[in-house]
Amino acid sequence: MLTLLIYYPKILEKRLSKIRFKPRISPKTGKPMRLFNEDEEDAYLTEEMIAHELDYVYDYDVWLNEETGFKLIERYDGHLHALICDECRFRTLKAYKEEIAVTPTHNIPGLLKKQFRCSNCGHREEREIRIDPLSTKYEGESAQPAI
Ligand SMILES: [Zn+2]
Repeated sequence: MLTLLIYYPKILEKRLSKIRFKPRISPKTGKPMRLFNEDEEDAYLTEEMIAHELDYVYDYDVWLNEETGFKLIERYDGHLHALICDECRFRTLKAYKEEIAVTPTHNIPGLLKKQFRCSNCGHREEREIRIDPLSTKYEGESAQPAI
């Protein structure tokens, strides 16, 4: 059976996430600020910013000094396509490996297994994604699935 493995380059992402989650110090009090997770931060983002996050254009982080209410909003490129982690609720769940468990044929769909790991809390999970049968993929101009 054909097994295809794809490893994502993760050195850069690791470096980025190290800088990204390094505690920010409030310029007013000199104390560390708190980073909001994806559920909490929406209250501090504009509608435009939330739309950017949904479209993967940009990802925003909101840091707050709870004593003074000082807020810091940082923007990141959304192209890394990180998902929200079920455990810690930060947008740090990323695919690092994928393999075809079932190779699709002309009539039978295949199955792709994708491994995810959260760079914040270390949570891991596997998701299964259906691969369309080859016959519908190479149907040409027609958008209608083959019957
Ligand atoms: Zn997590």
